[in-house]
Order: sequence, then structure tokens, then C-alpha cells
Amino acid sequence: MIVAMQEAATEEQIQVVTEHLIQMGFSVHRTTGERQTILAAVGSRTDFDTRNLEVLTGVMEVHRISAPYKLAGRSFRPQGTVIEFPNGVKVGGKEILVIAGPCSVESREQLFTVAELVARAGARALRGGAFKPRTSPYSFQGLGLDALKLLRDAGEKYNLLVISEVMEISQIELMLPYVDILQVGARNMQNFNLLRELGKLKTPVLLKRGIAATLEELLLSAEYIMAGGNYRVICCERGIRTFETYTRNTLDICAIPIVHKLSHLPMAADPSHGTGRRDKVAPMARAAVAAGADALLIEVHHDPDNALSDGAQSLYPKQFSELMDALRMIAPAVGRTIA
Ligand code: PEP
Ligand code: MN
Repeated sequence: MIVAMQEAATEEQIQVVTEHLIQMGFSVHRTTGERQTILAAVGSRTDFDTRNLEVLTGVMEVHRISAPYKLAGRSFRPQGTVIEFPNGVKVGGKEILVIAGPCSVESREQLFTVAELVARAGARALRGGAFKPRTSPYSFQGLGLDALKLLRDAGEKYNLLVISEVMEISQIELMLPYVDILQVGARNMQNFNLLRELGKLKTPVLLKRGIAATLEELLLSAEYIMAGGNYRVICCERGIRTFETYTRNTLDICAIPIVHKLSHLPMAADPSHGTGRRDKVAPMARAAVAAGADALLIEVHHDPDNALSDGAQSLYPKQFSELMDALRMIAPAVGRTIA
């Protein structure tokens, strides 16, 4: 950490700050310039709040040099994390995993129809909400356990991994027999009790960025899961709230290379929630692959106009298979393949 003192800071104020840093466990290296004094605090401690120093008299600026997360940081595993599934599918390596399916599981007919179509187009994992975090309590809330059973059946029939969202701790046990990946939705990114419980599992977790979360907050949430021993975390950019209203959210494509720089964890992109509009999903999916995404999460519905949730952002099966064709051309240009 670097503490820059104000030009007018007195020797006494510099001493107070130095003592403070030493008490925090840092060794302090002082540079006394002609006008200003800089204190470089060196140590392994990461759990501090720079504001405690910023408010001391005579301090001008405080800069954190080391990240506040350890396990999620790139230096923990410089080579990157590759998550492998029993069927040989990997996330985080050369192959890009495409996860596709409806926003919500609505019926057997719906799920099996969509699963067959996305599998034929080349998806290797099936998504579908069983428990839905809806903005309105009067909107469709999901079929729960029935949906999980349908997901497992469809996954087995079409050789697809299964991912579904877990909204609360009590659903974990119920879901485990039916899913290969547990999704934590944007609204739950900072549900720390839930994250801690997921840390006790071996099941991979796809952790979505909260609608107003910084990337540091996303990685600290990943750290919660990893601190419990579950290192199989996939981060996911799904769009954030900005002043732009044309799209449902603003898909922060730059989050992909940033997370790759800061962390060893695989990074997915969800252009469906990131845009909220069907016609914008394919361009953003292509951009995400070009930017280095390790996985894509895409909503597809055979009859999106009558979908019970997120129909407007769900691709028609034909659009999805055209997108897959495009991705197969783009991926090699950035040294990747589609799983
Ligand atoms: C979803 O994937 O259907 C979903 C609700 O996602 P998010 O948490 O990103 O809104
Ligand atoms: Mn959705």
C-alpha cells in the first residue's frame, strides 16, 4: 500500500500514520521528497480498509497495491483454472463451453424440444431455471423439483451437462442430484451465507456478476466460495446497470479480459441477460468469444413469443444454430475451439 502525505503534513502527522501502519502489521519504507513524503507499506495483510488511513490528518491519498482476495487472484494459479466434468467437457482451457436452453423450465415438451435443438446445434450444457428470481412476486416462479427432474432427464437423453440457479441454502441438497453446475444469480452474488455453503461442495458454481457489482466485488464473492474449499468457480459477466436504457443491461465485455488478468478463474458471458433483446444476443456472443470468454450462457426457446420468462431475449433455435456456426469461425481466430 502507498500512502502519499499532503505537502503541508507535519512530521508529527507522518509519525502518527507510520505508527498506524506498523500496528496494522506492515513494515514502512519512507521516502521524504522535497515537497511531499510517501510511505510504502509492505506486508502480506489484505483485510484492511484504506479509508481508515485516508481519514487521518495529513494524508492525501492511499493506494492499495495488492488485491484483497488471495485464492481468486491470478498469482494463486498463474497457469489458470481448468474445470473438468466427468464427460470430458472442460471450462477454462482451449475449448469454449456453450450453455444454452430456456430461461425457465416450463414443461417436459418445452424442455425436451429445446434441449434437442441446442444439442444438435453443438451446445454441451443445458440451462433452465427451476427456481426463478423474478422482479415481481406475481410472475412465474419456476416449477421447482419437477423442473430439476426434467433437466436431468433431458441432460441424459441429449448428453448435455445441466446448470440451474440456486437461490437459497435450503435448495442446495435438493438440487445436487440433478445438476452438474449450480448457478448463483446476479441478485445473490453477495448472499454471503449462500456462497459459504457452496464453498463446502465439490460441484462447480457459475457465479454471476451482480447488477451493480464491481469486478473486485465479484472476485471477493468467488473468494467466499473458494475459502470453503470449492475452487471450481466460473465467473460470469451478465450485464450491469448503467444509464443506458436501450438494452436491459450493459454487457461489460471488458470484464472478460480484466477478470482474466486479475484471476485464474474461467470467465463466462451471458449476452442474453446482458442485452435483453434477441437481435443483440448474437453480436454480443461473438464479441465475448473474441474477447476471450471461456463459456457462453445463452437463452434459447422454441416458442419465445409464448415463453413464461425472458422470451424477448431468447433466441429462436435457427438463430442459435447460425450463431454456433459463426462462433466456430471466430474461436480459431483467438486460438480457441468450441467444445
Ligand atoms: C437467469 O440466468 O435466468 C437469470 C435469472 O440470470 P441473472 O441472475 O443474470 O438475472
Ligand atoms: Mn432469464
